[in-house]
Amino acid sequence: RRAEGPEERRLLELFSYGLVALGAASALLLCFIPMPYGRYSSRRFGWLLPARPAWALQELPSLLVPLGLAACGGAVAAARPNRVLLGCFLLHYAHRALIFPLLIREGKPTPFFTFVLALLFCVFNGYLQGRSLTTYATYPPGWLGDLCFITGFLGWLIGMAINIHSDHILRNLRKPGETGYKIPRGGMFEYVSGANFFGEILEWFGFALACCTIESLAFALCTLFILGSRARQHHNFILQLATDIENICTFEEHRWYLEKFEDYPKDRKIVIPFLY
Ligand code: NDP
Repeated sequence: RRAEGPEERRLLELFSYGLVALGAASALLLCFIPMPYGRYSSRRFGWLLPARPAWALQELPSLLVPLGLAACGGAVAAARPNRVLLGCFLLHYAHRALIFPLLIREGKPTPFFTFVLALLFCVFNGYLQGRSLTTYATYPPGWLGDLCFITGFLGWLIGMAINIHSDHILRNLRKPGETGYKIPRGGMFEYVSGANFFGEILEWFGFALACCTIESLAFALCTLFILGSRARQHHNFILQLATDIENICTFEEHRWYLEKFEDYPKDRKIVIPFLY
């Protein structure tokens, strides 16, 4: 029996509200605890998994689930706007699941709990966006030439470029064997501490504008909540290094931090250029 129909449509809508609520609840929680992976990785959240396979496996469902849905899709999935929009989503996750992990250099391990949460998120969101674009989202003729689509598509494209470029800058801050933190410079880092996160947020808001679906808007809002919180934590982490040098014991360490962080650009915003 085919699942599609008004009931599933309503279910996807409810899932979308749930996604926004999840993002908002996470943002609230992240005011108290740092998001436990990368520099905040901790054994308290389970066994530590190596970064590369953890990233690849946890992100893969966002590629495979919509691909499977597209393969079984009918007329809606075959429409040109739907194929283009689904292509944007798949391209992002092909990069995130297959290329990004290979580029990681000596990444910090991911706790099992964080890995499972990210995996579940990718299954859920892969289904939500995939099902929406392959079964329910319908567009008027000429949608690919509409201002709404073009603006959204450009936002998605520029956001993805900023995200990839900023991650590239971060990866190249350290020389082989180094583990400490430095001030990122260039690109969007001149405006915000979380340039990679800004790129990803812009990407998904652009995607939402191009899709004009409740599911894509929910994903963009959830990304804003989660990555906005992580960017704030990183910003405070770096500023802490810059201002907390009194607590550093040895002369060598003191000098290192002073050199590295005293000149942290004070007008650099957290994640949204000129605003926040
Ligand atoms: P981070 O900025 O925390 O880390 C990226 C890499 O850069 C890590 O290897 C980190 O090292 C290194 N790094 C960061 N800052 C510095 C610094 N000041 N000096 C030296 N090295 C530094 O990014 P995430 O790992 O959180 O995210 C990676 C990608 O995944 C991003 O593109 C992000 O947008 C995306 N993402 C998307 C999510 C979504 O909801 N859509 C959720 C989470 C991530 P170290 O690990 O040692 O700190």
